[in-house]
Amino acid sequence: MLTTPFWWEGVWPIEIPHRSLPASADVVVVGSGYAGLSAALTLLKHGRSVVVVEARRVGEGASSRNGGMIGDLLKPSVAELTGRFGAQMAARLCCEFRDALARFPDFLAENGIRCDFERSGRITGALSDTQLAGLLRESAALRRLTGVEYDIVAKSDLASELGTDAYAGARLYRHHAGLHPAKYVGELARCALAAGAVICESTAFLSYEATHEGFSIKTSTGGIRARDLIVATNGYTGSVSGRLQRRLIPVTSYMIATEEVPADLMARLMPRGRVVTDTNRLLCYYRPSPDRRRILFGGRPAYTEISPQESARRLASHLHTLFPALASVALSHSWFGMIAYTFDRVPHVGTIDGYHYAGGCCGSGVVMATWLGNKVAHRILGSAEGATAFAEIAHPTHPLYHGRPWFLPLVQAWYQAADLWERRA
Ligand SMILES: Cc1cc2nc3c(=O)[nH]c(=O)nc-3n(C[C@H](O)[C@H](O)[C@H](O)COP(=O)(O)OP(=O)(O)OC[C@H]3O[C@@H](n4cnc5c(N)ncnc54)[C@H](O)[C@@H]3O)c2cc1C
Repeated sequence: MLTTPFWWEGVWPIEIPHRSLPASADVVVVGSGYAGLSAALTLLKHGRSVVVVEARRVGEGASSRNGGMIGDLLKPSVAELTGRFGAQMAARLCCEFRDALARFPDFLAENGIRCDFERSGRITGALSDTQLAGLLRESAALRRLTGVEYDIVAKSDLASELGTDAYAGARLYRHHAGLHPAKYVGELARCALAAGAVICESTAFLSYEATHEGFSIKTSTGGIRARDLIVATNGYTGSVSGRLQRRLIPVTSYMIATEEVPADLMARLMPRGRVVTDTNRLLCYYRPSPDRRRILFGGRPAYTEISPQESARRLASHLHTLFPALASVALSHSWFGMIAYTFDRVPHVGTIDGYHYAGGCCGSGVVMATWLGNKVAHRILGSAEGATAFAEIAHPTHPLYHGRPWFLPLVQAWYQAADLWERRA
């Protein structure tokens, strides 16, 4: 079993011409995931010079490791969003995510990005009647805000969607989709390079200082001056980002890939090639590979780092409970990546100590990180397109949080207990 992402096969590493760090640029972008590269691309298209500094290889963070499952759902329920932000802002946040997803295929087409994008639809399986009732209530509340339609799949009809009897019923969002995440980030890098980006790999952002002209930035390969600075480091944000680090909670997310599944079995287990999640707080997510030969399965079997062997064991046990027939199919890959949660479980974009940032997509960042990166760029350009509800809400921290998420084991225990309670109810 390999301990690198399945997505890297045949794609990795993304070819980036070696460039030394220039002395200056209009904008320095830290981080080369979807957020950093989409910000860079927009700025370049508007005539700004951009240098992207990346501590590892391009796209090596979450953007080449994720499930590639695309949706438009914020983590908090409509009721939670309304309670926290008021009805109007709750509607704006949900509708903006809806619009981000609706425009995503145009963004791919406009830039000639080929990344196995497929509008496969998403099944959300409810693990008990209680969870199903909650899912239906929530889906109806969201439809009232956003107008987004969905289908209910009764337990008796589920076999045509999925070869498991684990669910009491499900919701189908036909407009949700899947893509190949590593191809996508590679294509974004290609577009940014074609538009004139300088991308410096193995170049860590170490410190910055505000000057009259903008920023004087130190990296592991030298110094650079820039008018503007964007920090797009998300789940990999370190102490150099100061107050931003206190607002992003790094969480480990794990995935496995099976070896190729016999075609007839695959056709029984995932007949329509949907991407799938469930209603647990500690949810799992899975999908077929773009060629529909393997199953890629993810979850949070631990909130802290465990070995790829141990995470594979825990995830496989979950997978085999859903699909016992897969017990005879070996695993080919086990890997993990870092996502960033926020204290209000909503993504944020804004300015801290003069630099711009976007992040905190709470595990749903393929569309959102791209969208917010573009917003950051427009905010720097001073254009109306920079307007976003995600910049209008306060970005909270907690007095006892300084970048080390000591409370995650407690959260995990609470989620496990609450999920168990709801399933038994
Ligand atoms: C296992 C897993 C499964 C997921 N599944 C899904 C999914 O199915 N659907 C979905 O929508 N989202 C999913 N996500 C979340 C999604 O991948 C992220 O939200 C998204 O990739 C974030 O993009 P980003 O550009 O903000 O950050 P990243 O892609 O993480 O990029 C941050 C970059 O910053 C670099 N960096 C950090 N510090 C420095 C420094 N000091 N100097 C220079 N560079 C630095 C890092 O090396 C990294 O490359 C998943 C994530 C994981 C890990």
